[in-house]
Amino acid sequence: MTAKLIDDESYVEEYTEDFVGNWDKLIGWDGRRKSESGFFHRLLNAYGVESVADIACGTGFHSVVLAEDGFKVTACDGSANMIERAKQNVVQSGVELVDTRVVDWRELHKAFGPEAFDSLVCLGNAFSHLFEHESRRDALESMFKVLRPGGILIIDHRNYDSILDEGYSTKHEFYYTGKGVDARPVIISRTMCKFQYSFPNGDRHTLQLYPLRQNYMSHLLEDAGFVDVTRYGDFERPYDHYDVDFIQQVAFKP
Ligand code: SAM
Repeated sequence: MTAKLIDDESYVEEYTEDFVGNWDKLIGWDGRRKSESGFFHRLLNAYGVESVADIACGTGFHSVVLAEDGFKVTACDGSANMIERAKQNVVQSGVELVDTRVVDWRELHKAFGPEAFDSLVCLGNAFSHLFEHESRRDALESMFKVLRPGGILIIDHRNYDSILDEGYSTKHEFYYTGKGVDARPVIISRTMCKFQYSFPNGDRHTLQLYPLRQNYMSHLLEDAGFVDVTRYGDFERPYDHYDVDFIQQVAFKP
């Protein structure tokens, strides 16, 4: 039997019910709230954002936090398992969202129509799930369409420059703050990094991700028509190119 090759739809199968059931233990909502310390809220507020689409909402962490902060939030994700869990978390948290539904990034414009949002956030290293350059372009084109002029897009990713050039190390844990969990690459190559996520109960899950280099991601955003692309490292600017774990890329639709 030959192994199935990774493609741009593989994420749907990778986020099994079991993995999704463990996801909140991995990110640890309280720890992540602390480590972000209002970064996204401050940034969106500074640009007068009212409506936000959390387009890789996963189990709903940012959707809930941003709704608590007063933004009008739409949550979507291409994984039905994630959306089901997000809906449960939204009910449990008591916030109200505008909408919560399954949408692939390449279909955002069909789902929501043009200029529907002041802002889009695509967080948690999600954009690494696309393996084809053309799929990344299609996804960014669709994101561009659903943003209003002047709107802001935030995409984050691991510091793959550091992983590829210097090997994996993590100094701080900003994103995966759950107790007793571990997230680390078991395969590192220029075209694919396989990460393993381990949990205290012995569960293990893997994700195959495309290692987005910092400059490549910024150029992709510019190529899609976004302007004023600015990068943060672990929520700060300026930052040391290699000495941060996660990169936040902020871009505007002119
Ligand atoms: N943002 C959440 C967080 O930080 O906890 C989830 C991050 S998880 C690493 C990546 C998410 O992106 C998954 O929920 C996955 O289903 C979603 N995703 C991956 N590729 C996608 C695509 N092409 N369209 C829509 N969602 C996608």
